[in-house]
Amino acid sequence: MRLILGLWLLIVVLAPAPLVAQQDPPADLDEAIQRRLEASRLQARAVAAFGAGDIDAARSLLEQQLELEPGNPLALYNLACVQCVGGDREAALAILQRAIEHGFVDFEQMRRDPNLADLHETDLFRSILANRTPILDAAGDLQFEAAKKKYGPRYVYERDEDLKLSFASAYDEQTLAQAREELRHIAEWALSEVFTDLRDPPMREADPWVLVVLPSERDFRRWAIMRYGPSAVTSDFHRIGGSYSHDAKELVAMDLGGTLRHEFLHVLHWRSNMRQAQGHPVWIQEGLCSLVEDYDMKGGRLVPAPSWRTNMVKRLERARRMMPIADLARVDRETFNNERPLAHYGLARAVFLYLYQRGVLRDWYAHYTTHFAEDPTGIEAIEFVLGMSIDEVQDDFRRWVALLDEAPEARSDGTIGGLDVSLGVQVDPGRGEGPIVTGVSREARAGGLRVRDVITAIEGRPVRDMNDFVRILADYRAGQTVRVRVHRRRAHMELEVRVVARR
Ligand SMILES: [Zn+2]
Repeated sequence: MRLILGLWLLIVVLAPAPLVAQQDPPADLDEAIQRRLEASRLQARAVAAFGAGDIDAARSLLEQQLELEPGNPLALYNLACVQCVGGDREAALAILQRAIEHGFVDFEQMRRDPNLADLHETDLFRSILANRTPILDAAGDLQFEAAKKKYGPRYVYERDEDLKLSFASAYDEQTLAQAREELRHIAEWALSEVFTDLRDPPMREADPWVLVVLPSERDFRRWAIMRYGPSAVTSDFHRIGGSYSHDAKELVAMDLGGTLRHEFLHVLHWRSNMRQAQGHPVWIQEGLCSLVEDYDMKGGRLVPAPSWRTNMVKRLERARRMMPIADLARVDRETFNNERPLAHYGLARAVFLYLYQRGVLRDWYAHYTTHFAEDPTGIEAIEFVLGMSIDEVQDDFRRWVALLDEAPEARSDGTIGGLDVSLGVQVDPGRGEGPIVTGVSREARAGGLRVRDVITAIEGRPVRDMNDFVRILADYRAGQTVRVRVHRRRAHMELEVRVVARR
């Protein structure tokens, strides 16, 4: 028997781009951080005690955790499991109800959890399952109202009924509208190319609402410190751009580019996982979700593109240091994120881009999820859809990597590779909305660009970070004129700017 360990926290590791200044954490957060660390220690001990069959110890540890975090839905759910296994059905049902009131809405988990077997036949449990949709809506409302209280009147609040998303945004209404439009495109792509199971409308009723927070820099910093502890502001932290916490049903993204796209795909992926009561290994989660970080538009359709991540994989391959796919499939989350994370993310993305370009991604996902119990690693499904052994796949993948186009890239040292055109401006990476113009040539000035303009799109394609900027610009030739959308103080406008040769 196992309890749920609340580690479904997904971090995106991006190219080094300092978003957060390195300082000590604010003093007022210190106590909250300590409380959180202590609570997660208690949780880990409770899970271990339960695993070892010590029900009393598990109960006592969870009660201590709940003293520190009274409304923690996962702790409540775990306590309900412990009470149920311990034979106290009444207490278990009461606590399960509290868990749900506080936002634990994984009904598939509840329905299949052997720890709750004694509750499954009770009237109350049946009525909980029968009322999933109103319960989910109520949980979504509660979360949305709490966000309004937390972030205050300076934020913009909106809801997307189709995608079941609530937004709390430090960006203005137009910027949020642009971001929402992009998310709709990504959802369309994902539902047709990967998570086809999400097209089933009756199942949609059981999807939870998710809060998407697009915070100010200050709020992001506070969130990051709370989430990751004081170490969040030490040197490595600049690589965390946001996360999606499946436990909290909350997505936080500092930038509207690669991070938001990536984390949003996690939202959809988890919905698919919940519907099927599966938990996919880290390489699949990260590989799939990285696919939409960088994409092209072809004939009005989104197409995942080679990027700085595949460039990295090409370098690994040239150095004969690329990990075999079969090994990658066995890497656990801890190792994936902590030992050479950029290599892991890059390789996982490359494998899924390979499956996509071979035209088998959709079939792979369908086969994989259908046969999940037989092979959760995903390797058998790759062999099946490509009709090759994994060794043959590995050779084919290697050749594909070697032949893959080198993507234009904004390097961490500030230089740009593989780009021979320019808008005649100098830019700074910006804070998440788009690159900021820091210098303007005469020609760019004639086109209307000004210092401090934030560039947010080129030819209607969102430009949110340097990688977007460089990748999209590379599609145009010197002498062409492109429509550049900028944000200047409170105004959003579109300018006609001539592309020039890069000196
Ligand atoms: Zn991720």
